[in-house]
Amino acid sequence: MKNTVAQNIQDVLRRIKEAAVKAGRDPKDIRLVAASKLIAPEKLKEAHEAGVDDFGENRIQEAKKKMEALSGLPIRWHFFGHLQTNKANAAIDMGFELIHSIDSVRLLDLLENHAAKADKSQSVLVEVKLSGEPSKHGVAEEGLFEILDASRKTPHIKIEGLMTVPPFFSKPEEARPYFARLRAARDEAVKEGFPLKHLSMGMSHDFETAIEEGATIVRIGTLIFGGRTK
Ligand SMILES: *Cc1c(COP(=O)(O)O)cnc(C)c1O
Repeated sequence: MKNTVAQNIQDVLRRIKEAAVKAGRDPKDIRLVAASKLIAPEKLKEAHEAGVDDFGENRIQEAKKKMEALSGLPIRWHFFGHLQTNKANAAIDMGFELIHSIDSVRLLDLLENHAAKADKSQSVLVEVKLSGEPSKHGVAEEGLFEILDASRKTPHIKIEGLMTVPPFFSKPEEARPYFARLRAARDEAVKEGFPLKHLSMGMSHDFETAIEEGATIVRIGTLIFGGRTK
């Protein structure tokens, strides 16, 4: 018989805890965000009842629909898809807990303008692209400090950390160098005076390796909801 969403979540939480303990870390320092793209709101509700408070979407329209459908529930919404500049205002208005995918100074400035007008503050992460894959989004490592420096002039947008999506490897061990590089980039930024606390890294197939390398946020879809292919 197929496991229920609740059983899958128990399983994932147990594995997060084990990976943290193995790495000598406090499991409380790692937050699970359920990646819920293409998953129906009823399933998100099931996951919420099973103890997940954080959900991550990667399309603005889809996120809007789910926020409406689940508006009564105390859910923290995350956005980690590519954020088009023409959706920047909407993203601010929607009140995400965290936007994981800032990848340009232009996007940062647009978010700042709108947040200032709306008198809101928004927490974000910078998405760093550590591989050369053309299909991936994010700023190249060399461009990271340009965005961090620009954030000195964006008082309404708070950069709290970094996010990355490494290439897919069948062996999670092969993703380790990417996670280590993101952590090194974070440490470098901290040394330069940017108070970055979060590392959003690790998905269904590699989150334990990411936790060993310092992930504070793991984004997990398939292990919780099953496959998304229809
Ligand atoms: C879908 C998605 C995830 C989750 O992927 P799974 O392999 O299903 O766990 C994580 N991060 C991002 C950016 C995603 O789009």
